[in-house]
Amino acid sequence: LSGDAISAAQIDGLSVHFPLCMRNLHTAVRRDKHLKHFGRLQYGLFLKGLGLSIDEAIVFWRQAFSKFTDDQFNKEYRYNIRHSYGLQGAGRNYKPYSCQQILMEHPPGTGDNHGCPYRHFSPDNLNMVLGSIMGVEDRSVLQGVKQDVGAKKFHLACNRVFEHLHEKELKREKDANGGSSGRETIIHPNEYFDRSWSLKN
Ligand code: SF4
Repeated sequence: LSGDAISAAQIDGLSVHFPLCMRNLHTAVRRDKHLKHFGRLQYGLFLKGLGLSIDEAIVFWRQAFSKFTDDQFNKEYRYNIRHSYGLQGAGRNYKPYSCQQILMEHPPGTGDNHGCPYRHFSPDNLNMVLGSIMGVEDRSVLQGVKQDVGAKKFHLACNRVFEHLHEKELKREKDANGGSSGRETIIHPNEYFDRSWSLKN
């Protein structure tokens, strides 16, 4: 799918392939009908990386921010969305953030939903969203995540969850490759999506 165009209407369905950081942002925007600046940037650039065109991005954000009037939306948000596609301001074509950038830059404050939950959430909150958003209840996986997080290996925790959620598909792939997984650690949210999509389709 990566590189192909996706539409605003497909995003809910595709979100099962998103890593926790992006599913958390998706859940937040559906719940609050709003996201603060860095959340919009982190999530918006990720969606752009999935192949969401500028026109479809405007459709997505306009529908998502349903508590605002057209006038408020056009004044407050349209410019920024166009800007992130390089269509306003200096015309810079921004790239989706890597895990490293999300882990290190702009730590979230109160009311923010961006960042990496493995790094930025309290242990209780992380366990809660792993269950409620990702459907991870397995005690040994949660224990492993706790250890990874304790050792500050946040992306390893994310990869552990990926492996758990794709256990069957990864096993099938490994068997097909003569016992070798041939896969490296995921270090980019868009890479997480691409791998999840290709394993499940
Ligand atoms: Fe997102 Fe990367 Fe954190 Fe995973 S490790 S939740 S992909 S920022």
